[in-house]
Amino acid sequence: MPELPEVETTISGLKIKVLNRTFIDVWSDWKKIVKKPKNFKQFEKQIKNKKIKKIWRRAKNIIFDLSDGYSLLVHQKMTGHLLVGNWKLETGKWEAIKEGPLKDPYNRFLHLIFFFDNGKMMALSDARKFAKVELQKTDELLNSKEFKNLGPEPLEKSFTFDKFKEILSNKKGKIKQVLMNPEIIAGIGNIYSSEILWQTKIHPEKSIAKLNEKELKSIYNSIKKVLTLAVKLGGESFSDYRKPDGSKGDFDTERKVYRREGQKCSRCGTKIKRIKFGGRSAFFCPNCQR
Ligand SMILES: [Zn+2]
Repeated sequence: MPELPEVETTISGLKIKVLNRTFIDVWSDWKKIVKKPKNFKQFEKQIKNKKIKKIWRRAKNIIFDLSDGYSLLVHQKMTGHLLVGNWKLETGKWEAIKEGPLKDPYNRFLHLIFFFDNGKMMALSDARKFAKVELQKTDELLNSKEFKNLGPEPLEKSFTFDKFKEILSNKKGKIKQVLMNPEIIAGIGNIYSSEILWQTKIHPEKSIAKLNEKELKSIYNSIKKVLTLAVKLGGESFSDYRKPDGSKGDFDTERKVYRREGQKCSRCGTKIKRIKFGGRSAFFCPNCQR
């Protein structure tokens, strides 16, 4: 699933390609992907002639602020990613017009396509069809319970070490689960929580109550370091995620433990282990992370 670095990469790409563009039409073969308004015809009617005034990110949500006080939200969920380009319908299937990364097999699950006033298209490729699209009044979005409950953005300056300690002080649980809880810290999922903890040499199941000041500082520094590097590299693409031009992110060379079970730890040579807890997999080095 795309996490903060991938969503941030998508936002940067979209800003260059579709900011100030006006929606003129929309197509879908999986209308259930649009959750608000529930009626697709209504969605179609509402989005037409609206202009994109701002593109921003909150947690793993992509938000397009539109004219007339509306916002379009896209949550890519498991396998979704937004692409910009041109496609044509050929025997019932959309095919990228130009040769290149948009023809990558991972970019061919187009279930929602927006058409812009300059002839460009923005498509949501989503193999498993779990993505969520919502169009609503900006005020309504900002005041929604889901939005208000989101934890702080870890790359913002206001996310200081004191702030980090403060938000953990009244929480319980294992460090990996805490890092992945969007109501505690926004935007971190399984990939980056695994990578952050490997950097700190802390076991993913360690209880946060047992973390000392030095370990907390190390986790805090690692959050900033790993996410900043991943944003710089354009996220990871070993699975479905692709940038808006269809190309891959470059974090893969830095991926130390996530989905590397059985491979050697790059620090000590011990085999990376995969365990399950809380319904999710955790990847770690049993020698480095105790
Ligand atoms: Zn190791």
